[in-house]
Amino acid sequence: MEWLDDNLKEIQHQMQQACQKAGRDISEITLIGVSKTIDPEIINASLKIGIENLGESKPQEILRKFPLIDRPAKWHMIGNLQGNKVKMIIDKVDMIQSVDSLKLAQEIGKRASAIDIVMPVLVQVNIGDEGQKNGISIDQLFEQVQAISEVPGVQVEGLMCIAPYFEDPEDVRPYFKKMKSLFEQLKEIAYNNMTMKYLSMGMTHDFKIAIEEGATIIRVGTGLYGKRNYQGG
Ligand SMILES: *Cc1c(COP(=O)(O)O)cnc(C)c1O
Repeated sequence: MEWLDDNLKEIQHQMQQACQKAGRDISEITLIGVSKTIDPEIINASLKIGIENLGESKPQEILRKFPLIDRPAKWHMIGNLQGNKVKMIIDKVDMIQSVDSLKLAQEIGKRASAIDIVMPVLVQVNIGDEGQKNGISIDQLFEQVQAISEVPGVQVEGLMCIAPYFEDPEDVRPYFKKMKSLFEQLKEIAYNNMTMKYLSMGMTHDFKIAIEEGATIIRVGTGLYGKRNYQGG
């Protein structure tokens, strides 16, 4: 699949450019291939050319694809997760990036403990304060992170956000700056059982800006796999 190779090279090129601009090393940044709605055959092809991390937003989709993936990959849950679906994916995913409540963290902790693992999680921040988006609001973030960090069976390893959409990605920069600042403040506070290691922000449209502002994980779907077809997916 030459197109896939070309897409990956283009993303890596842009990652490199953003790193150069920001004086960062590309090895600091993990690229997640957001494979929601994408066929296992194409996902497998992407793993063959170097993608190591996959992002999915629906538990059912992880369940369906998991046995069809023929190379080692790390799976990241990046979508809205209902408590009653946690048990479907707890033994399949390597990280849950979309933790947006203490209650969800408790359910994850319970299910993880039951199979003797500790699940790495990121706390999702509603950085644009957008009513329709998931995530913890900025004014509640610190107390919520502290509470979640105390839940047995989960390890808070950082923050994640889905930034507001702007036609001009430059306009999103203040939101990424704010995320980085919250991330650094939490690192400083250093609650027990918490490591501020990952800052997951930036998608196809704005990952260059996110890297310039300190992202350590970027989540790229369309730019890698092409346009999604939601029908039947
Ligand atoms: C779909 C999705 C992405 C990827 O979006 P693209 O614009 O296709 O790169 C990233 N993060 C989350 C949480 C998503 O749901």
